[in-house]
Amino acid sequence: MIIDLTHPLDPNKLTIYPGDPGLKCYGYSVHALSLGSHTGTHIDAPSHFILNGKTIDEIPLDTLVSRPALVVDLTHKKARSKILWDEDLAEFAPKMKDLGPGMILLLRTGWSERWATPTYMEKYPYLDRHAAEQILSMGVKIVGLDTISPDEIDGPEGYGAHEAILGTGGLIVENLTNLKALAEIGREVMVSIVPLSLTGCDGSPVRAFGWKAQVQ
Ligand SMILES: [Zn+2]
Repeated sequence: MIIDLTHPLDPNKLTIYPGDPGLKCYGYSVHALSLGSHTGTHIDAPSHFILNGKTIDEIPLDTLVSRPALVVDLTHKKARSKILWDEDLAEFAPKMKDLGPGMILLLRTGWSERWATPTYMEKYPYLDRHAAEQILSMGVKIVGLDTISPDEIDGPEGYGAHEAILGTGGLIVENLTNLKALAEIGREVMVSIVPLSLTGCDGSPVRAFGWKAQVQ
């Protein structure tokens, strides 16, 4: 069974980051699409934050398709709390190393249940910069979350997690959903994150999905 980790791009049921373009899909037979590169479930390329960083079309598909992934349950975290390395993630370090360089770490806060409501944007747990650095040092390539950002919106710490991850060649996937269902199919899962090949673009909506790894 394949678990879809993607919010449908439904103009009537959508959370958009403040200031980003809205989503329009109109016409019939051929729909015209108008949307920001960070609409819905999407991936941030390094060029989103890093000058001369890789754009989304420059990310090899080997990085994105059929990668081992680990889902970390953080649903106990309080609203607006920081996800910390020592407290929340260090215990999973051996597993991150075990799954090898290039793995995907999925942080499940449970916030996807608030998608398309005003509370989705408010008080979600966010990732400490130091924790982000530690995650990358374990060989994690992609950090995925079920929130709108790994950083607090307008928080005093700015974009620490974005800078730490994208600045070291990592990638961020935001607005994932169904991480609970994914975790229920097993500890070891496989995940694909499939962006459009948008030349020169700093991100792309994705179809993200996961399945149970074959035990060898
Ligand atoms: Zn983004």
